[in-house]
Amino acid sequence: MSTDIRVRFAPSPTGLVHIGSLRGALFTWLFARKHQGAAVLRIEDTDQSRLVAGAVENLLDVFEWAGLDFDEGPRKSQPEADSRGAASGDLSIEEVGEYGPYAQSARLEIYKKYADQLLESGHAYWCDCSPERLDTVRKQMQARKEAPMYDKKCRDRGLTEEQGKVLRLRIPEGVTHFDDMIKGRVEVDNAQIDDQVLLKSDGFPTYHLAVVVDDYLMKISHVIRGDEWLISTPKHVLLYQALGWELPVFAHLPLILAPDKSKLSKRHGSVSVEEFQEEGYLPDALINFVALLGWHPEGDLEIMSREELVEKFSMERVQKSA
Ligand code: GLU
Repeated sequence: MSTDIRVRFAPSPTGLVHIGSLRGALFTWLFARKHQGAAVLRIEDTDQSRLVAGAVENLLDVFEWAGLDFDEGPRKSQPEADSRGAASGDLSIEEVGEYGPYAQSARLEIYKKYADQLLESGHAYWCDCSPERLDTVRKQMQARKEAPMYDKKCRDRGLTEEQGKVLRLRIPEGVTHFDDMIKGRVEVDNAQIDDQVLLKSDGFPTYHLAVVVDDYLMKISHVIRGDEWLISTPKHVLLYQALGWELPVFAHLPLILAPDKSKLSKRHGSVSVEEFQEEGYLPDALINFVALLGWHPEGDLEIMSREELVEKFSMERVQKSA
């Protein structure tokens, strides 16, 4: 296995597996296999209000069915049979790999450490603004036809952890840019970037802090994800810079839209992998189908085995638009 190519698929366990998620997982896995790298599965469960019981088990079942075997991350483990040979209890989850824990909820101390580092280096500050105040500020900005963002009231108040509610990133002046394998060069004026919350009042990190810390610590070389996250990437780039870390390569996959170009949803038919399973689609058929949503190999090959997909996959041939 090549030591330098490491990719991850990082779902939030919030219910059924959307067909777009399967496609994201597939492209990530294909990239890893193509380059003899490692495919990591990471569970992004920091938004405690959105968690759904059994969703991780469900994800693992779907990936097993689809033949997407991740090299690191959670796995289902069969409990030891007892002395009478009867299995004792339900399937449980174990982890494989040396960069765990692979569920973000088990990594809170790690995020706190880097949050403290950002605070000490002046890249972050505590904020005690109430939800009511933030709401008023947002409405005023909307009324002025401005993009709603935090008005930076607490930036220079020097609040302590005890006084603050949330920790925010201090976005510097300037321009942030990065090169995306699919979208090309992306450049954003920092004036348009919000002083993002990094630690929430429940002590959990936001997605932004957790994703950067984990991608770095898990030595992820290529961050492959849906392009709904493209808008967040400049914040991540600023976090990498604030922490003094080298950037990974980014690749933002185009969304899968419905034929009428709206967001794919229930009213267009089946959207979860589980529904396609119930309708009797075979894993290889579904995988072949989603592989060709936003990507195609050279020539007019339409039916491909898993081996052919691995051999022919290339990020350069993923299309830019949804
Ligand atoms: N946890 C995010 C999701 O549910 C993944 C974002 C990422 O890959 O950076 O889609």
